[in-house]
Amino acid sequence: MSEEKVNVPELFGSLVFNDDAMRQRLPKDVYKSFHKIIDEGKDLDKDTANAIAHAMKEWAIEKGATHFTHWFQPMTGITAEKHDSFISPAPGGKVIMEFSGKELIKGEPDASSFPSGGIRATFEARGYTAWDPTSPAFIKDDSLCIPTAFCSYTGEALDKKTPLLRSMEELSRQSVRVLSELGIEAKKVSTTVGAEQEYFLIDKETYKQRRDLVITGRTLFGSKPPKGQEMGDHYFGVIKPRVMEFMKDLNKELWKVGVYAKTEHNEVAPAQHELAPVFTTTNVQTDQNQLTMEIMKKVADRHGLACLLHEKPFAGVNGSGKHNNWSIMTDTGINLLDPGKHPESNTKFLIFLAAVIKAVDDYQDLLRISVASAGNDHRLGANEAPPAIVSIYVGDDLEKVINAIIDGKTFEEKSAGSIETGVNTLPKFKKDNTDRNRTSPFAFTGNKFEFRMPGSAFSLAGPNFIINTIVAESLSIFADELEGSENPEADAMKICEREFKAHKRIIFNGNGYDKEWVAEAEKRGLLNLKTTADAIPYYTSEKNIALFEKHHILTRPEVEARAEIMLENYSKKINIEALTMLDMAKKDIIPGVFRYINMLADTETKKKEAGLDVTNDAAYKLADKLSKELNIMYEKVDALNDAVIAGKDVPEGQEAANYFKDTVLTAMNELRVIGDEIENEMAEEYLSYPTYSKILFYI
Ligand code: ADP
Ligand code: MG
Repeated sequence: MSEEKVNVPELFGSLVFNDDAMRQRLPKDVYKSFHKIIDEGKDLDKDTANAIAHAMKEWAIEKGATHFTHWFQPMTGITAEKHDSFISPAPGGKVIMEFSGKELIKGEPDASSFPSGGIRATFEARGYTAWDPTSPAFIKDDSLCIPTAFCSYTGEALDKKTPLLRSMEELSRQSVRVLSELGIEAKKVSTTVGAEQEYFLIDKETYKQRRDLVITGRTLFGSKPPKGQEMGDHYFGVIKPRVMEFMKDLNKELWKVGVYAKTEHNEVAPAQHELAPVFTTTNVQTDQNQLTMEIMKKVADRHGLACLLHEKPFAGVNGSGKHNNWSIMTDTGINLLDPGKHPESNTKFLIFLAAVIKAVDDYQDLLRISVASAGNDHRLGANEAPPAIVSIYVGDDLEKVINAIIDGKTFEEKSAGSIETGVNTLPKFKKDNTDRNRTSPFAFTGNKFEFRMPGSAFSLAGPNFIINTIVAESLSIFADELEGSENPEADAMKICEREFKAHKRIIFNGNGYDKEWVAEAEKRGLLNLKTTADAIPYYTSEKNIALFEKHHILTRPEVEARAEIMLENYSKKINIEALTMLDMAKKDIIPGVFRYINMLADTETKKKEAGLDVTNDAAYKLADKLSKELNIMYEKVDALNDAVIAGKDVPEGQEAANYFKDTVLTAMNELRVIGDEIENEMAEEYLSYPTYSKILFYI
């Protein structure tokens, strides 16, 4: 156990070139122009870039860095980096340490090996990275990491971050338009996100013995343990010492790189935990969450543990999500989703609430797509996570307000006063009252929305660029109307009334895990896109392409490329899983069962030879049962094998995705059922991999 004291304020951000470091190290005028660039979106000139690069390099070298890298987020969903050292040859066979403004702002990694969904073929082969000055540089493994966006040479986005940055600017622009009509001063708004990251922590030795976990991140065989989460004794339970050591170490590493690691606790499943940081602006949170996932894995390894970030590592056991808490904040510090105690802020709150409700209803498909992956499909709708149906929870208090507006009535539960239109007043919100429903995919939680569908392995960029874009669309429509209005305040309330009426169907305060909800949602005309293969076709609908193009978030080819990458990724993932299953069955499981049957048969023979009574013999019965089950298993292996081979001839894209969903996944499920039945009959020593019980209750 480490007993050393940690000086958190000293440790925090010690490896980040943050605002404080800049103020100390940059000449005053450079520091000022830098702020103009990030606060007002001014262009970066060469001299400023050179001065920042110089200060950054000096700082990094003092901290022990030898290299720099443009750190980016290609469509793989993980981060990419290529390291260059600072060295430059100098006379006398020596080197000097150099880093120019040009190297800071632009890089040219070889883009050819990253997924581009055909963009590179259509446009240019090369890609480049461009510095995102709004997310601070940091040091990792002795390299200065510079957060960047990754584009093709002609400017098409090849990464997750570019559309996110575009969407943040667009949401800001549309919000400011609406706010200015309501007489509220704001130059800029930012979206804020706090992401609750769930994960499993298991022993590294058991991890290494599972081919499926190592290769695919989830178990492809494995019968449910005798004890699961039914006792509810893990959630918020006392954290085991070994896990606590990991968490302490993790916090320190995260604090160093400026991640506001705040809350940690055990989650519902055995061996499942959660980490929640304090919220930040969305692009910073996105970068920091990528870093968090990477550091979690590294620190786990150091502690003889393996950190699993897959959405569903264990069938029949709770999966892992990444709850995306989202709000909008003005540069003057107002949270626009805070209902507040003061009625004068109500119109502003209600119009933003209406914008979100309208957005979620109009673009259910895009929200579903933003959380679609082969892994997350196992989680959504599985009675532990929100269903694949998108709906909004607003809580009883807020629903009353909405209903009063729809009915044109005065809200009876009078609180501090009434808003200027004199129509409604808001109750005082207690966070507790609004945060009880854990089954809703999109829940209002007091002063923010919590989008609960993203899976634990997701990049935050995907869900957030969608949320920002669809809300920007609502706001742009409202702004168009208000800009011509004589009485914007009253007209804003009329807009709220209209939108609440039009989109009431998306509000659902009940239990999202309930089967009846599926039927009710269908009656309301809500989408229920169960799998990734079902959802992706909606990405490229004319309505959605028009949305992305209108707000300059993605062009038609960029949307098409993204849809193609998602489909390809889905089919490839399932193909790898199927091949891994076949490997496990043929190389590990079946030989083990044969050995066990052999041992049982031997036992029976030896008993007979010894003159023992073998009528009703257990060894015989078990050998017979296993032998028959093994025959079935072998048939299922053959069937899956055939399905995988036939899959090679199915045309890529949608057709392949449908094939993998309908044929390959079904064959995998059938093989798993018989494999797990056999597992239940097997003696531990003949099993080729550790069981769920061993993995999940390791300490
Ligand atoms: P719960 O488990 O009740 O959902 P947590 O405390 O685990 O709550 O996580 C809540 C998350 O929401 C934290 O990351 C927190 O920083 C974040 N959050 C709080 N206020 C905002 C806001 N205005 N915008 C975005 N995220 C927020
Ligand atoms: Mg939580």
